[in-house]
Amino acid sequence: MKVNCEGCAGCCIDWRAIAPTVSSHERRGPRKPLDDAYNLVPLTREDVRSFLDAGLADALTPRLWEDESGVEIDGVELAAIEGKPVFFVGIRKPLKPVAPFDTDASWLPTCAFLDPKTLQCRIHETDVYPEECAEYPGHNLKLGQQTECERVENAFDGERLLNDEPPRALSGLLLGPQALGQKVFVYPDPDGLTGVIDRLIDGELTDRDRARFVAAAVAGRPGTTGTNHEHYENALHEVGSADSWVGRAIPEWEVMATTEKPDPSVATRVEDERGAPPTPDW
Ligand code: SF4
Ligand code: SF4
Repeated sequence: MKVNCEGCAGCCIDWRAIAPTVSSHERRGPRKPLDDAYNLVPLTREDVRSFLDAGLADALTPRLWEDESGVEIDGVELAAIEGKPVFFVGIRKPLKPVAPFDTDASWLPTCAFLDPKTLQCRIHETDVYPEECAEYPGHNLKLGQQTECERVENAFDGERLLNDEPPRALSGLLLGPQALGQKVFVYPDPDGLTGVIDRLIDGELTDRDRARFVAAAVAGRPGTTGTNHEHYENALHEVGSADSWVGRAIPEWEVMATTEKPDPSVATRVEDERGAPPTPDW
């Protein structure tokens, strides 16, 4: 596997707004995500724990799905196991000023950890670099699924996927029951989600809402639908105390997106000066 990522970041940005045709690859099949995120990176339990330990859990957000055979909350049938809603944990995508694929800069939903200036990942090869990002697009190649690199090639020309041989060393796919508590988590108290589902659909989750899912992910007992309630309360407190550069930058990006022209260089003030790790440039 060999990819040409310079000037791309197609797998880190929701670039549907500037695409000639829109892919809905995340919204096929019977279960539809409640959020509108594109290319959500599903984090493993270990990834989530690392973000928590690094004080970066304020960058995380849940994904839940509609499913007619699930549990009803706020008038929505949610995918559930044993009556408990299931979810992924991913990374937030605020609007940032980015110019991928040699386009003019525009405000696009962008991974909270992507440096808009260089289009490089600020946590690349650090302790919190997600497994899914480190291996992308390895699993797609192994399963014969289209990659984001190819979607970018189709939309903007250029060569992105230079070698499509799947890598030999690849983590397990974590599908089916073995994913429970490792990549797919359950929320222990469905009644406690009243109001939260409405806010999720409206894109208005609060810090507290997101924290509850992060805590449930790390406090779940792997392979079961059980939750360690003491771990849950401790984790909830930890996430609630997170006050990182990334969490503080997101509200500013969201305000700027409604008032200012897109200029990637402002990331120096909004992110770097708040303590964001620099990227090496190409
Ligand atoms: S879409 Fe492919 S080429 Fe583009 S940044 Fe992601 S891995 Fe690299
Ligand atoms: S963590 Fe890094 S590589 Fe993964 S989506 Fe975000 S910016 Fe991209």
